[in-house]
Amino acid sequence: MQTAVIACIDLRRSYQQGTEEIAVLRGVQLEVARGERLAIVGASGSGKSTLLNMLGGLDLPSGGRVLIQGQDINQLSERERCTLRNRQLGFVYQFHHLLREFSAEENVAMPLLIAGQERRAAQAEAGRLLDAVGLASRRRHRPSALSGGERQRVAIARALVMRPACVLLDEPTGNLDRQTAESIHSLMDQLNREFATSFVVVTHDPALAARMDRRLLLQDGLLQAQP
Ligand code: ADP
Ligand code: MG
Repeated sequence: MQTAVIACIDLRRSYQQGTEEIAVLRGVQLEVARGERLAIVGASGSGKSTLLNMLGGLDLPSGGRVLIQGQDINQLSERERCTLRNRQLGFVYQFHHLLREFSAEENVAMPLLIAGQERRAAQAEAGRLLDAVGLASRRRHRPSALSGGERQRVAIARALVMRPACVLLDEPTGNLDRQTAESIHSLMDQLNREFATSFVVVTHDPALAARMDRRLLLQDGLLQAQP
């Protein structure tokens, strides 16, 4: 059997709130297969972002384990975790997190530069990805000169530029118009077919959830299958 791209074993995460301990994740079990597309739905405050951050090794479990490509993130140094994230994962956050002082193209090229790729090649590749998300004419724009939807597309291009094994998206198309959302969904489908990229997407968008291979509901700190 192939190693799951991401796996959680009895994953737990609590937050200390004054003297109280609030258990957000209470023993999540999950396996994301290579090439699988997964939607996670759930009420606001149910812990979706907490779970996604944990899947990406941005935050460490209070209990249980997270494996990324078979590697236990708790067993890695901070530096090894960063390298694993850079090589294997792409992130699209709820609020894009683009670097303000850099152009769209520089933002997209950043993961390649961090990975040690030469600047010209990195820029060319970033240009190709921006083209794919329909922003060829916005390469030199800084985030402040882009619309919300355009910024989100830059963030998506950046998440895809390393051809990661898995892309994690936190409500990526929530504030995009129908047409832009549709073009991003198509791009996801294309990458999934071409490179067997896995996707884990937290979403309120029923159209996006319906497109995924599997849907899970996060409720009371646990995941359950949805039709
Ligand atoms: P969702 O993304 O499903 O809306 P979150 O994962 O953001 O939910 O939050 C889940 C719960 O955990 C919420 O009750 C939130 O207040 C709490 N929480 C999230 N982050 C922290 C934190 N850093 N410190 C304390 N509580 C937190
Ligand atoms: Mg959230």
